[in-house]
Amino acid sequence: MHSLHSLTIKKFHDGLLKKEFSALEMAQNFFDWIEKKDGEIMAYLSLNKDLAMRQAEEADIKIAKGESLSALTGVPLAIKDNILIEGLTATAASKILKDYTASYDATVIKKLKTAGAVFLGKTNLDEFAMGSSTENSAFQKTKNPHDLSRVPGGSSGGSAAAVAANMAVAALGSDTGGSIRQPAAFCGVVGLKPTYGAVSRFGLIAMASSLDQIGPFTKTVEDSAILFKEILGQDGLDATSAEVSYGNELLNPKLEDIKKLKVGIPEEYFVEGLDKEVTEKVQEAIKTIESLGLKTKKISLPHTKYALSCYYIIMPAEVSSNLERFDGIRYGTRQKADNLLELYKKDREMGFGSEAKRRILLGTFVLSSGYYDAYYAKAQKVRQLIKKDFEEAFKEVDVILTPVTPTPAFKIGEKISDPLSMYLSDVFTIPVNLAGLPAISIPAKSSGGLPVGFQLIGKKWHEADILGIGQYYERL
Ligand code: GLN
Repeated sequence: MHSLHSLTIKKFHDGLLKKEFSALEMAQNFFDWIEKKDGEIMAYLSLNKDLAMRQAEEADIKIAKGESLSALTGVPLAIKDNILIEGLTATAASKILKDYTASYDATVIKKLKTAGAVFLGKTNLDEFAMGSSTENSAFQKTKNPHDLSRVPGGSSGGSAAAVAANMAVAALGSDTGGSIRQPAAFCGVVGLKPTYGAVSRFGLIAMASSLDQIGPFTKTVEDSAILFKEILGQDGLDATSAEVSYGNELLNPKLEDIKKLKVGIPEEYFVEGLDKEVTEKVQEAIKTIESLGLKTKKISLPHTKYALSCYYIIMPAEVSSNLERFDGIRYGTRQKADNLLELYKKDREMGFGSEAKRRILLGTFVLSSGYYDAYYAKAQKVRQLIKKDFEEAFKEVDVILTPVTPTPAFKIGEKISDPLSMYLSDVFTIPVNLAGLPAISIPAKSSGGLPVGFQLIGKKWHEADILGIGQYYERL
């Protein structure tokens, strides 16, 4: 069996071209490995063997015919279970969607199908992407491949763990407040949250629509650029998606351009209470980036301390409205009841877990008349201040470097009964969603211990900057 370890999109593509293996044989290898390994990791909620083997065969036919291949032809991917693939279940890890089968493809899936990718299966998440540990899944607890007693992070914990445990070459997740970057940091892989509007959200089960964005999990920054390039683009089915032309520098950054970028280090992100290992490894990453020739500069993002509170008003408000549609009639399992109201109540009582319920209640409260101005409207103003902080900072620097999380992966069960301490694991990622910016989580080089990530935040539509720095960082 060809080693799945260290197999990247790039290497897979080269291997196919050189006929070192066939796509079919590799798909089989992945399913064999998943069968062996996923019993302990529990990254996948469902596997998609029949369709995957057919997709792999089609890739091999293309190769045999000498047709031109995309970078993703035959590449085995894992997809978070809140992204729709026609004909497959899409549960969002909620009981209310346990038996829901998607009747259409998300736009990102359509694009990946055209590119010839192979979908191995759907991965575990916190219910409706609400959480930071994947423990809020209604179905199973995913383990961190680096230490089985620890969480993989969340909410895209299944996708991060699948890539980290070599059960997929790459994966897709979604990020509303950190759900790609935080699990990437905990599992030692690369996670990119694109600029809001860069990637279509059509076919993503919505959590908080003004914050959600789909993005890649990969083993390398180079792969992140490759996968991002395949899924980006304006989509008539998502009015918030934008037409932006990303040039060649996404895949082929030039060192002379990268060297010119100025990196800001915000003092508000290096506070007391930051874990020692995280501090050390992030400082190390800063030094490495300086050694590439980039200049760094201390900056300030003064409203950072309000980001978490602001997020926990805006996000639940949007959650409460997005989750209204789950009534047991159009979606989900239907309970027996005497009248309509009773039916809604029973379906939602049975169908939602406690974190979903908590956020629906919170959201309904902050939107209710009498509280709307005091909470929701005020939070929207604070959101503008946070956005402005970044705009001001980006007058002085091109990229901002921060830790991804205050600590490395925590123990399973450690925070589940204390929602507030769980919410705190996203303090460094949430401001980015509020401002709609692109950011990437890159594993800091380490000499043992648990993985730690550092975050590069870019200007709007400037994914090329953060991916460029990242690609040179990983070459060192
Ligand atoms: N962990 C954060 C939350 O619980 C972010 C979730 C996400 O990005 N989907 O809301």
